[in-house]
Amino acid sequence: MIPESIEMSYFSELGLSEPITRALDSRGYADPTPIQKQSIPSLLEGRDLLGIAQTGTGKTAAFSLPSLHLLMANPQPRQSAACRMLVLSPTRELAAQIAENMRGYAKYTDLSVQCIFGGVPSGKQARALSRGCDVLVATPGRLLDLIEQRALTLRHVEIFVLDEADQMMDLGFIHPLKRIANMLPTPRQSLFFSATMPKAIAELGKQFINNPVLVEVAPQSSTVERVEQFVTLINQTEKQALLTLRLRAGLADGTIDRALVFSRTKHGADRIVRHLDTAGVPAAAIHGNKSQGQRTAALNGFRTGSTRVLVATDIAARGIDVSGVSHVFNYELPNVAEQYVHRIGRTARAGADGIAISFVAPDEKPYLRDIERLTRIKLAPLPLPENFIEDAAGLPAPARKKSSGGGGGRGSGKPRGKGHGQKGGSQSRQDRDGDSGGKRHFRSGRKDGVGAHSGKVRRAG
Ligand code: AMP
Repeated sequence: MIPESIEMSYFSELGLSEPITRALDSRGYADPTPIQKQSIPSLLEGRDLLGIAQTGTGKTAAFSLPSLHLLMANPQPRQSAACRMLVLSPTRELAAQIAENMRGYAKYTDLSVQCIFGGVPSGKQARALSRGCDVLVATPGRLLDLIEQRALTLRHVEIFVLDEADQMMDLGFIHPLKRIANMLPTPRQSLFFSATMPKAIAELGKQFINNPVLVEVAPQSSTVERVEQFVTLINQTEKQALLTLRLRAGLADGTIDRALVFSRTKHGADRIVRHLDTAGVPAAAIHGNKSQGQRTAALNGFRTGSTRVLVATDIAARGIDVSGVSHVFNYELPNVAEQYVHRIGRTARAGADGIAISFVAPDEKPYLRDIERLTRIKLAPLPLPENFIEDAAGLPAPARKKSSGGGGGRGSGKPRGKGHGQKGGSQSRQDRDGDSGGKRHFRSGRKDGVGAHSGKVRRAG
């Protein structure tokens, strides 16, 4: 049985209006993150919220989306030098990032988003504010400056968000925050976020929020800590060969019992499966474009062990609860760090230890940083297998083109025999099967840590 959650958790089902869900589609957000799912329904009802969550969990969208929805649903004439929603952020970088995200989420609406922070002259910010705006993202010091200059009033604030409260305290913003709290009108909706909730922060929260819903998405470190986590830095175009070689070797020598491979896209998942099949590694895909029957069959095969490699998207994987997953491969990193925790939690279930291996292309390094920050674990580098280039060249090659180039992940061409695919062989546009050059030589002496019990791999870092 496929749990219903696979089908259920899209943004529109949370009640967000079309211009907002359209913006999410255009950003490629298929599915809400846990904090978004937990927060959005209550926020749409106008509740206050106390959120314990870090950056990387999708919390900006969690507070932005329902707020934008409510502002749209209740249009008001624009007041000069005023805003309807105020978001306070401790640093200018975070403020700018929040404002940029909110502009993106609001791009199909008429709502305006402005951002003010210190360290730059305030004149331009004051002039921009004179027209008024719907959403104002601000750092506390500059906000108070502009209020003192009478360039801004908080009288019309309907929604107030305090982000990163613990960092606010660390930066000494307690008094400015109290002053701001006293200027906010009631009734209003208030949201208060902090990565940690020591007593002093909880006390501060009480000054802003009223009967809040509590949402907490701290990473489950116990799960995370039980998983041995590795990272291989590799070009996107080489990932397919690496995955194939790792799986083939690990399945052959028994270090891999059952592997779940995560792909960011549905087409990507299909492509991976085709390449694996061509190379003699039977695999199945599970994602939203598959019929219920196909999903059930794929999952049953994986459960019974007749298919030992399942390639999944995040959405589809949510319903997967299979014991005995020895390895999780992140073919691409998720762009929400929290999702990484959920992915690797698929292994290490029921007390078992698991191994997670992430393939990280240069442009994914920022995601890696987010993940390491969220989990507070530095992933151990896992080097390429010893004869990677030669072995990759010997693969049946549905996945590579003659010259490098051609960024990752698209397939082309005809399957070819060996001697192809230098290091950067890119994946091809049309994945057809080929002669299975699948009589691969399994190197002996392979100590590349697929089993990852090789101390060699663990120590790097
Ligand atoms: P935040 O924790 O708000 O800083 O978000 C972390 C990253 O996740 C940002 O790059 C967001 O654009 C991205 N993000 C937020 N929500 C989603 C989602 N539902 N699906 C995919 N990416 C998301």
